[in-house]
Amino acid sequence: MTTTSKNDQLFERAQKTTPGGVNSPVRAFRSVGGTPRFITRAEGPYFWDADGKRYIDYIGSWGPAIVGHAHPEVVKAVQQAATRGLSFGAPTEGEIEMAEEIVKLVPSLEQVRLVSSGTEATMSALRLARGATGRDKIVKFEGCYHGHADSLLVKAGSGLLTFGNPTSAGVPEDFVKHTLVLDYNNVQQIEEAFANFGQDIACVIVEPVAGNMNLIKATPAFLQALRDLCTKHGALLIFDEVMCGFRVALGGAQELYGIKPDLTALGKVIGGGLPVAAFGGSTRLMSNMSPVGAVYQAGTLSGNPVAVAAGMTTLKLIQQPGFYERLSATAKRLADGLTAAAREAGIPFCADAVGGMFGLYFSETPPNNYAEMMAGNRERFNVFFHAMLDEGVYFAPAAFEAGFVSAQHSDAVIDETIAAARRVFATL
Ligand code: PLP
Repeated sequence: MTTTSKNDQLFERAQKTTPGGVNSPVRAFRSVGGTPRFITRAEGPYFWDADGKRYIDYIGSWGPAIVGHAHPEVVKAVQQAATRGLSFGAPTEGEIEMAEEIVKLVPSLEQVRLVSSGTEATMSALRLARGATGRDKIVKFEGCYHGHADSLLVKAGSGLLTFGNPTSAGVPEDFVKHTLVLDYNNVQQIEEAFANFGQDIACVIVEPVAGNMNLIKATPAFLQALRDLCTKHGALLIFDEVMCGFRVALGGAQELYGIKPDLTALGKVIGGGLPVAAFGGSTRLMSNMSPVGAVYQAGTLSGNPVAVAAGMTTLKLIQQPGFYERLSATAKRLADGLTAAAREAGIPFCADAVGGMFGLYFSETPPNNYAEMMAGNRERFNVFFHAMLDEGVYFAPAAFEAGFVSAQHSDAVIDETIAAARRVFATL
């Protein structure tokens, strides 16, 4: 081993015992090339790698770190919960409080079931939709990622795009023959799908603000068409708000757009950095779930007391007055500042933000769907990414991912980022 970089050494060592050296594919930097940074600690808007270099972090653990890393109140709640025991496999009052809080905040929810990952949340919502309707077909949209359950791994976004393999190997054709994949933001296609298969469609699942093919906002007309068609044909509308829930607004995308889905999947922010996710809907629909109804779903660590403590504390912090106004202003300051810096350098670039989420595009206008997103200049993004990394700014290591700001990203931190980008754009 000739390298003196601790990151390089760790990466080499990791690859011996873990496929690709990582436990979730996009962390491996395959899209942008180079060595992934091994993180040793994080605080506020920053994290530090194994070589001791500090980065301004715009991933926030891919969404959860909305109040900033290692927030003292969240850490304290976790420490206190841990001293009372790590897991009981029996119900706790904390789980009731968490369910009450989520139901209070998300407009369409009357009941929720807690799980441990977004994948479990969407997978279970899908099973519920099929169980409740007695139908098999599901509709998803190209570039939307809903976790790695078999029937949803068709033309999905996020890490699958990095590998140019949007449909996973190992998923039998039989498992996905009921999955219809349509274009995002295309009203005509979904009308045609319902005209042809309306009787067979159990549900439509959508990221109402897509964050796994970079950031792409649904048009209000598209989401309204989904709502109307599902109602008309007796199908269920599932909003996958694992990423955009508690991110684009306190009540999620459904509050932002004023459209209520039948089922909602949540994750990321509600765990505050520990594994909590949830799915829910009306009491009537949720009564299909075991042990009340016939749709089975379970989890050894579901509603884990330590994870719930982190999640509940985070949910309290984000309800502080002005939280989302500040978060949105922060993301907008970043998007506007980067766009202006690129324009000064004559680089075709734009950026967009919704709440605490943002997208960076090496194109003249923000994309509206998967095909438009893929037309962006990825080579230029990769050069930009590495140059920013050298400057101490950590954006998502792929052009297909949204970015996130936290409440700890001050104006000074954003301005430092923009100043670094100005230097980088000048060299592109
Ligand atoms: N749904 C969406 C919209 C996501 O962004 C993700 C993860 O990024 C998931 C589902 C899967 O969540 P998890 O990685 O917690 O399984």
